Amino acid sequence: MSELKHTFCRVCEPSCALIAEVSDGGLISLKPDREHPMTKGFACHKGLATLDLHKDPDRLNYPQKKVGEAFERISWDEAGRDIAARLADIKARYGNDAVAPVSALSIREKTSRSRALVRLFRFTPIPMCT
Ligand code: SF4
Repeated sequence: MSELKHTFCRVCEPSCALIAEVSDGGLISLKPDREHPMTKGFACHKGLATLDLHKDPDRLNYPQKKVGEAFERISWDEAGRDIAARLADIKARYGNDAVAPVSALSIREKTSRSRALVRLFRFTPIPMCT
C-alpha cells in the first residue's frame, strides 16, 4: 500500500514543494504540492523528472574507481578516503589555491558544502557568486 509524503525538489533555489508517493521504501511518483503556501502547486518539468533520473538504468548508485581502463565498484568509505587523500596531496604539492569548489546545486547547498570543503582542507576560500 502506498502513502503520500510531503517533500521538496532539491535541484534549485525555489525548493518547490512536492508530494511523493512511496511504497515499500520505493518512490512511485512525484507531483507538485498544490496546497503548499509558497510554491502553490508549481514544479517545473526538471524537478518532476527527478523520478526518471532516480530510476534511470545508467544512474550510478555507488562509487566507482578507474583501475586501468575499467571501473571497479568501491565502498563509500573507500571513495571518501581516496578523495581526501588526493585532495590532501594536491594541497601539499601545489598549495591552498590549487582547489576551487564548484557546484551546480542550489546556493544553500553550494555554500554549505563548499565552505565545509574549504574548512576541512584549509583551502583558500573563494567568493561565492549567485
Ligand atoms: S521544481 Fe524546478 S524550479 Fe522548482 S526547485 Fe525543482 S528544478 Fe527548481
